[in-house]
Amino acid sequence: MTIIDGKKISTDIQDEIAIEVKAIAEAKGKIPHLAAVLVGNDGASETYVAAKVKACERVGFKSTLVRMPTITKESELLFKLKELNNDEDIDGYIVQSPLPKHIDEYKIIEAIAPEKDVDGFHPQSVGRMALNLPTYLPATPFGIVQLLERYKIETSGKHCVVLGRSHIVGSPMSILMARNAAPGNCTVTLCHSRTLNLKEFTLKADILIVALGKTEFVTADMVKDGVVVIDVGITRVPSTETKSGFKLLGDVKYDEVAAKASFITPVPGGVGPMTIASLLLNTLKASRREVYKTNYEL
Ligand code: NAP
Repeated sequence: MTIIDGKKISTDIQDEIAIEVKAIAEAKGKIPHLAAVLVGNDGASETYVAAKVKACERVGFKSTLVRMPTITKESELLFKLKELNNDEDIDGYIVQSPLPKHIDEYKIIEAIAPEKDVDGFHPQSVGRMALNLPTYLPATPFGIVQLLERYKIETSGKHCVVLGRSHIVGSPMSILMARNAAPGNCTVTLCHSRTLNLKEFTLKADILIVALGKTEFVTADMVKDGVVVIDVGITRVPSTETKSGFKLLGDVKYDEVAAKASFITPVPGGVGPMTIASLLLNTLKASRREVYKTNYEL
């Protein structure tokens, strides 16, 4: 059994990006520039955005943090996005979610210029992903694709079962695994809360991707020997074992499932660290104007 080390792969990717940025700087090229918009002062969002800004600094990107108060009107945020869309120095940007309740999140996502949509949430990015056209893949699915690729896990012809159909993880993951691409070419089953007899499906999985948000939901009796398990779930639960009084649990009962798996991602240290690496890769792509260099622009 191989434990998939997301922390190491994420560090490797960031090191590779840093080398590339150094070369760009030496050639006096344009340094990739990521902006993050943070509305309000939600504690978790502050932490995520700070980690993204820090990662940018580590690889040598320029970063800009745009802070707006919770009382920001939707129209004011839309105006800010217009500025970011028109700012030629900014290659890509993200709007950290959740947004305050009075702001329509989809309206905001649709206002991001698709060529700067490094979170990959814009409908145009999602559509291009479904059509297998060059695009920005959403961070978590992109991170999983990177893990499968770097661990040389064969996906072609395999049965991939995805648990969970959220717009940010399960649903795009099912599209990516079914694409005529590598990784991809799987036969995919997408399960959700209305799926009947879930265990019948999980037992048939060669690759099981779990994104439910239900701690230790997948147990050893639900998987077959040799399964590849990607556990996306991260839930903070109280714990007497740690100094902080909390620990992180995945959606898979790790020890017993690991005993049957060929590959498995731990929590923490599996899928989680890949999110930032994916965002940096998307920003690098944006700065190279790679995604929208298509035939119809010639
Ligand atoms: P979500 O939006 O809450 O979606 C959960 C999905 O699970 C839904 O599709 C739901 O079905 C399905 N579900 C819930 N209970 C089920 C059950 N008993 N049987 C079958 N399906 C069930 O969650 P998410 O945003 O995708 O996140 C999932 C987990 O991944 C969370 O723990 C989250 O913290 C974690 N996560 C980690 C990363 C990362 O590592 N970087 C990134 C994103 C999310 P319905 O659609 O029918 O309701």
